Amino acid sequence: MKKNLFFILLKINKLISMSKFCYLIIVAFGILNFQGDKRQEVKVEIEFVKNGYDDYKVFARETIQKLQIVLNSDEFRKSIKNGIFLETNNLNNSELFETIINGYEVQCPEKYLDNNVSCNKGEKGLINLKVRTIDNSDHKKWLRRCAKKPRRGSTIGIDGVGDGVTAICPQRLQSWSASSKYGDLGGHFMHEYMHILGFSHNKKKSKSAVYQIGNIVKELIDKNN
Ligand SMILES: [Zn+2]
Repeated sequence: MKKNLFFILLKINKLISMSKFCYLIIVAFGILNFQGDKRQEVKVEIEFVKNGYDDYKVFARETIQKLQIVLNSDEFRKSIKNGIFLETNNLNNSELFETIINGYEVQCPEKYLDNNVSCNKGEKGLINLKVRTIDNSDHKKWLRRCAKKPRRGSTIGIDGVGDGVTAICPQRLQSWSASSKYGDLGGHFMHEYMHILGFSHNKKKSKSAVYQIGNIVKELIDKNN
């Protein structure tokens, strides 16, 4: 009888250890699964080239923070997933999303290398925006377009024509900063960043990924504020 009791106790003990073991396995799988599910977060940084942003650095940095929150949000992910985009360099929506989140810039600022502006090619998950304002070093046509009233043949900025540095009209930067238009600046950054990622558009206000994703960012920043 005593012997039987001993075996029963041994069995119970084994069962308990077995269940403990199973429990540990389940917990371990849970952790692994959670890690597998963990999304890649994107970080947004800004570098100021030349000194046109000197009075607006705080506004620009606050905009960058809001842009980063939007890019990492479910709403942004869903907007890209469900959108219909043209001029996507043959990428489908999830590839388009990955391209943005990876942040492998295609355009590199070679002419600014002397100013210690690094080229971020290859650093995953980091959007490195390089910004300046349009000035006398730019073609006169840009200065003229900057001076025009919004929507009347005017421009907001230029993408740097391959050098990876986004330029904005000083007039626009000044007025957006004065009225805290974070969405406008964030949308502009995103539009130009899409060019830096290698996307283009044929005409203004198009259904292109460049225009639409810039607009999505603007709307989401505005909505969050
Ligand atoms: Zn453009």
